[in-house]
Amino acid sequence: MTEQRNHYIAGTYELPASGEYFASINPANGQEIYQAARGNTDDVARAVQSAQRAFEDPRWRDLSQTRRGHLLRRLGDLIGEHADELARIESLDNGKLLREMRGQMSNLPEYYYYYAGLADKIEGSVIPASNRAILNYTMREPLGVVGAITPWNSPLTLTTSKLAPALTMGNTMVVKPSEHTSASVLRLAELVTEAGFPDGTLNVVTGFGAEAGQALVDHPSIAKISFTGSTLTGSRIASATAGRFIGSTLELGGKSPNIVFDDANVENAAMGVVAGIFAAAGQTCIAGSRVFAHASVYDELLERVAARAKSIKLGDPLDDTTELGPLAFRDQRDKVASYVDLGRSEGATVLTGGTSSDGGLGGFFFEPTVLTDVTNDMRVVREEIFGPVAAVMRFTTEDEVVSLANDTDYGLAAGVWTTNLARAHRMANRLDAGTIWVNTYRAMSPMSPRQGFKSSGVGVEHGAETMKEYSRLKSVWINT
Ligand code: NAD
Repeated sequence: MTEQRNHYIAGTYELPASGEYFASINPANGQEIYQAARGNTDDVARAVQSAQRAFEDPRWRDLSQTRRGHLLRRLGDLIGEHADELARIESLDNGKLLREMRGQMSNLPEYYYYYAGLADKIEGSVIPASNRAILNYTMREPLGVVGAITPWNSPLTLTTSKLAPALTMGNTMVVKPSEHTSASVLRLAELVTEAGFPDGTLNVVTGFGAEAGQALVDHPSIAKISFTGSTLTGSRIASATAGRFIGSTLELGGKSPNIVFDDANVENAAMGVVAGIFAAAGQTCIAGSRVFAHASVYDELLERVAARAKSIKLGDPLDDTTELGPLAFRDQRDKVASYVDLGRSEGATVLTGGTSSDGGLGGFFFEPTVLTDVTNDMRVVREEIFGPVAAVMRFTTEDEVVSLANDTDYGLAAGVWTTNLARAHRMANRLDAGTIWVNTYRAMSPMSPRQGFKSSGVGVEHGAETMKEYSRLKSVWINT
């Protein structure tokens, strides 16, 4: 039997109330790597109580904002020192390329440094609301215990997007990571303790969404839920939190367009399209899964994308020469395969890929796939597949492609490839998505706010704007 991993509550590991564990599987070879604690309502109650105590603890509550910033900086340093270890933990858990995870983990400290810099610059204002005898001012206060629920595709980065601003504001947190990737967030909790944060500032309850996740959403002492995951789960969470008048930040799914105009550098655009959909085996919310190519460059773009897709080296994510790892778990791989079958039955042509494979390792791989003969109304083009599957379509005018690109339930991101500056500006204005990339794809920074439009989410992550998501505004009137 593999090692058992427990919940992290009040600065220490705690056994699950049920005594039950579940297996975490390495998707590259199908082998069990450890057993994670199966969290339930009792575990969540203990974790929330610990976070509540930490929130009220004067060592945390009364800490100066400058000192809070120091703690965040120290945590960033520790993450940097452990970047290789954290990268390996995530790569084993979710199958993403180790080399890619090393890059992600060495960037992660920047999130903590960015918010550390903001910590002592959160100011209220004096409002000229009355005569000079009365002073009216505003101040921002922390919310209390924030519940964070995260998916499997980038566990630490997505947890950090919530944790860093929440702690900066003086909140405390309970995280329920994805049942497919419990290990890295548990290790992060140890580093939070090592950095000097009081016990209970960050608590982690592992387990399933319908059990531990639901219990966290339903806990009456939670002040807010910050969620990243599917639109379906997000909509359930939105209903539950709205009914209790508590806030939620929801970062949800996408079906992002990547648009290549006739005046684009097609070679660069093809590379952008490939990176847009095949990075992380397509398991990114911002995947450029709908590709629109102008009729005059359609053939050249398709040829370049298909050639690159065919040459992508599938294999062991720990091997630095591998270009595509597995899907994160068997069901996800099977879901991708069934979408490609659905596409075939809807009339799509599988130009390249379209087949499951075990990668010679016993893992859950799926070949990079390009679908043509698709239209914007097919389910493979409308629904998020969350796998390495691009649907490529042709257009002729700018108005036509704007209308096709915006004809989706989602609005997370969009890519535009053009050398015409005026067109770049027009497209940035007309596309209905929270992030627009022109002649690049996937650029991201803790400093740059992002927001999903339509069914892609509610609220902002990253940037100074996020501080509002983790605070409330108080207006004080003092009559002298
Ligand atoms: P998911 O919604 O199935 O699960 C996400 C998390 O929610 C997991 O921890 C899960 O256990 C939990 N959960 C499930 N049911 C729950 C419930 N009833 N109550 C409370 N918690 C529950 O999503 P997933 O499949 O893990 O992740 C993939 C999805 O995440 C994709 O749709 C992707 O686009 C989205 N995503 C969005 C962003 C973004 O920033 N917008 C980033 C990454 C991933």
